[in-house]
Amino acid sequence: MEYGFVQQRVEEIRARVEEACRRSRRHPDGVRIVAVTKTATPDVLPALYAAGIRDVGENRWQMARDKLQHPAASQFVWHFIGTLQTNKVKYVAPRFHWIHSLDRPELAHALSEEAVRRGLVLNVLVQVNISGEAQKHGVAPEDAERLVRLARELPGLSLRGLMTMAPVASRPEDVRHVFAGLRTLLHDLRSRLSLEGFDQLSMGMSDDFEVAVEEGATMIRIGRRLVNP
Ligand SMILES: *Cc1c(COP(=O)(O)O)cnc(C)c1O
Repeated sequence: MEYGFVQQRVEEIRARVEEACRRSRRHPDGVRIVAVTKTATPDVLPALYAAGIRDVGENRWQMARDKLQHPAASQFVWHFIGTLQTNKVKYVAPRFHWIHSLDRPELAHALSEEAVRRGLVLNVLVQVNISGEAQKHGVAPEDAERLVRLARELPGLSLRGLMTMAPVASRPEDVRHVFAGLRTLLHDLRSRLSLEGFDQLSMGMSDDFEVAVEEGATMIRIGRRLVNP
């Protein structure tokens, strides 16, 4: 695959992030673009790097494996953003720096144990199902506190914030309340549990990232709009 088009896509997204930051009186440095590569071939990595991207996200270990072999892979911060089976933790923990999809106690224990075994600390986000859609993964908002309390005690984990996926919507405005809900939950948990460094909101994808930025996203996960021809 020829990925020359990536540069312009990154520039377009950056410009739109900056506009959204202006509207919401935020600094653009507070928004990280995580390039979600999925079915793109490993050649996408040098193109992303040349365009200034330093964060890559994958939702499945099988799709990450080939890209991680590429010589450019070590120049990126790697984010695991999909449902993570416990039997894949041994592969994912040593290669990814962030896990956005912590959604159950067994996974928290497995990640922490693997990290400790390897002398690492993993940055984790608890995935919350704000919208309540049945097919969405993540804990219910009322169950987030229990998982947050567990994760902050585990030695191999650095608990950094929350992640959500908004439902598919015809207009981005329709999911603003989902992003606002995640922000409120983060602030509420942080102040009640006195959590330090618990300040990351991973929310917003190709069709709704501007609204997510307006609502406080610190990481937006962009796939199609960045890497699909
Ligand atoms: C695929 C994926 C994205 C990116 O979605 P696009 O709509 O392609 O931007 C973001 N987050 C998760 C968890 C994904 O699986």
